[in-house]
Amino acid sequence: MLKIAIQKSGRLHDDTIALLKQCGLKVDKGLDQLKAEVRGFPAEVLFLRNSDIPQYVADGVADIAVLGENTVIEKGQNLTTHEHLGFSKCRLSIAVPKGNEDYDSIKSLEGKKIATSYPNTLRQYLEKKSVNAEIHQISGSVEIAPNIGLSDAICDLVSSGSTLFKNNLIEKDIILKSEAVLVSRSSLGNENEDLLNQLLFRIRSVLGARKFKYILMNVPNEKLDEVSAILPVLKSPTVLPLMEEGWSSLHSVIGSEDFWGVINQLKACGAQGILVCPIEKMVV
Ligand code: AMP
Repeated sequence: MLKIAIQKSGRLHDDTIALLKQCGLKVDKGLDQLKAEVRGFPAEVLFLRNSDIPQYVADGVADIAVLGENTVIEKGQNLTTHEHLGFSKCRLSIAVPKGNEDYDSIKSLEGKKIATSYPNTLRQYLEKKSVNAEIHQISGSVEIAPNIGLSDAICDLVSSGSTLFKNNLIEKDIILKSEAVLVSRSSLGNENEDLLNQLLFRIRSVLGARKFKYILMNVPNEKLDEVSAILPVLKSPTVLPLMEEGWSSLHSVIGSEDFWGVINQLKACGAQGILVCPIEKMVV
């Protein structure tokens, strides 16, 4: 039985449950439960505070976890990162109050106070840049620190930048980029290692499928080669005859980002009735 730690509530929670569900793991969660059984995979889920998760995995209370990469780095436990999951994207940045025109690099904060909830990551960054600044650790609402005279700058997570904007702060330096990751202890034992690999296989099939769309269209037979050359396919396109003489239905796979770039070329080749559909899972 694989014990999976996930965030109890907060930004990562819903996307994590949704990813597990797409991988065939249905989490039977009642209200305020710390633990839930999983249908569809030999696992149980532990609902924990995001910042406590690295310790629980390191101590063996949980085997694997989904959490923000920024937390893995901050807590510094010896965990193995197996997969970047593509959600909860953010960056840990230095921001200073608007009008602080004399900031040109992190060196401008020499001798100044920086408020953060990520003291270890910030300390390492300052050491790397040979900057001597005072780190003021606070656990939440870091963005208000300069306004109340607690610090000269902040080091905090940013995604859209709207919190900084509302608090008259300007982002100056990005210390690290982060997203949700799947981690484990360095050694799990054979049985759980095997379960982890099975889960990773499912996750990669789901994440891989998100990058592609299934595309089908009707093409005049004499244009099949030309259309095939436009579509970067997995192996080779599927071609099925239409009832109408001289036409075929061509099925293929296309990168989600690539469709608008090739649509005019496809139409110029005479392709008609072009359909683009999502792919749920992809095993190549
Ligand atoms: P929270 O739900 O506030 O405890 O945040 C959990 C995790 O969500 C953080 O550790 C980050 O990995 C991630 N996250 C993504 N965007 C943001 C953001 N704008 N502010 C804070 N955390 C974020």
